[in-house]
Amino acid sequence: MDEQHELMLVKRFPTIFRDYKGSIYETCMGWGICCGNGWFQLLWKACEEVEKALDGTGIILVADQVKEKFAGLRFYYHFENVPETPPLLYWLGKRLDWVTSKMCRVGQYRLRWWLHRQRRRVFETRMEQAGSAVSRAEEKSYETCEDCGRPGKRHGGFYIFTSCESCFIKSEIYRLRESLERWKKHGC
Ligand SMILES: [Zn+2]
Repeated sequence: MDEQHELMLVKRFPTIFRDYKGSIYETCMGWGICCGNGWFQLLWKACEEVEKALDGTGIILVADQVKEKFAGLRFYYHFENVPETPPLLYWLGKRLDWVTSKMCRVGQYRLRWWLHRQRRRVFETRMEQAGSAVSRAEEKSYETCEDCGRPGKRHGGFYIFTSCESCFIKSEIYRLRESLERWKKHGC
């Protein structure tokens, strides 16, 4: 992402991007936001939702690394200021998750996921809401052009990336031109 877009995110969401351009020995955010400008809106929306979900709780979400990997957005983060004893709902939810995870052992996968969905519906805590907002952006990135933000799909062979048709064609032409130049210069 170019610096102009990065700074817009950092200025609007200073807490989430607190470690932006920190020491690369301490945080991966030292590398900046390592994806194309096309995912700017996805990130913006996710951060707005995170802010809304955590509003008034005192809990903050801090980005650890934001990058592209295997054609999708990866947004790693951690929470801070989480209350010492988890709120009752959070605790109950975790217990329920534990019970449902045991069901896999006896082959009750579908029942497990059904229960998991129900529990999310009833118990989803603010922290989970914030986490879901990030997950949604990651999911959405697989159908959003990383260059321009228009609807896109996965392209490429060895190196895969998500782009719309016109950005894909542009990148192909660029690649061909490069090969042609190389061929002219070195004959291979
Ligand atoms: Zn595009």
